[in-house]
Amino acid sequence: MNHFDIAIIGSGSAGMSAAIYAKRAGKNIAIFEGIFHGGQAARTYEIENYIGIPKISGPDLMNSFYEHTQGWNVPFIYENVDKVEKTSSGNFLIKTTSSEYIANKTIIATGARSLELGLLSEKALQGRGISYCSTCDGSFFKGKPVAVIGGGNTAVEDALYLAELCEIVYLIHRRDTLRADAVLVDKALSNEKIIPIWNSVVEEFIGDKSLEKAIIRDVKSNNITELDISGAFVAIGNKPNSELFEGFVDMDENGYIKTNEKMQTNVDGVYAIGDVRTTPLRQIITAASDGAIAATYACR
Ligand code: NAP
Repeated sequence: MNHFDIAIIGSGSAGMSAAIYAKRAGKNIAIFEGIFHGGQAARTYEIENYIGIPKISGPDLMNSFYEHTQGWNVPFIYENVDKVEKTSSGNFLIKTTSSEYIANKTIIATGARSLELGLLSEKALQGRGISYCSTCDGSFFKGKPVAVIGGGNTAVEDALYLAELCEIVYLIHRRDTLRADAVLVDKALSNEKIIPIWNSVVEEFIGDKSLEKAIIRDVKSNNITELDISGAFVAIGNKPNSELFEGFVDMDENGYIKTNEKMQTNVDGVYAIGDVRTTPLRQIITAASDGAIAATYACR
């Protein structure tokens, strides 16, 4: 059975940063990669707040993280982790769908995923008009009317990106103030292709083979309107990918893993970094910073 000094579970910006720090400290490590490296950042259209790089696309920045880790010969294991257990000798047994590994220390970097609105019609039309990733799916809606649901940074960035491709972008938000950064809000509200629909929620999506309409309710007046749209991008926040670790490490009420400032969880030898942990800011730069801290202490 393969035995590592440090196993890193997850290959987003946090995991790859931890890998570089641990490799440079001479450790025998591996990264377990889920679906693709780069995590949520790899689906971000444009990044303007990563210091030293004034403007870059999410996929390009994540590819450069990946190439950087490759330069340090970090081994990627393309297997889904099913379970992590502490052994009687104090090591960790990592069970994947096809194999088992032992690690002296484990760094959890599994990130987070998009929240859903919870409508039955949303489930039914997923992949047929309903999407959670504008950079992945936006090009399917070139020249067509679309909606973005949400009022945070993701929703506003999605709206700006889609405005370059689509006929019109309705930005449906349940309040009358966006919570996104001011610079993004200014750009969105001055873009003539972005039409904000304030104080409103989606009651239902309608479509036979693919999405045709959204039924919108004004939460103040309860008025119902219909919007003709071909695509809807749900951008209402994230949920941590921490289910695997329930009962293994302490979490908050939303499933984010609790850590101290050294990224240590309540289990000796287990660290959590990036979007999966309780943190006041979930950004690429903070995830990378978490990775550096965790790997440094895991190596000591
Ligand atoms: P977020 O900041 O949590 O915003 C979620 C938005 O969705 C809020 O406007 C919220 O409304 C709305 N919402 C939540 N549940 C809803 C529901 N059931 N129905 C309708 N609307 C709902 O999430 P995010 O935009 O995905 O951002 C997550 C984190 O990543 C944030 O810290 C953000 O700053 C960061 N991020 C940063 C960048 C960047 O800096 N370039 C880009 C993307 C994300 P309320 O406002 O009424 O609560």
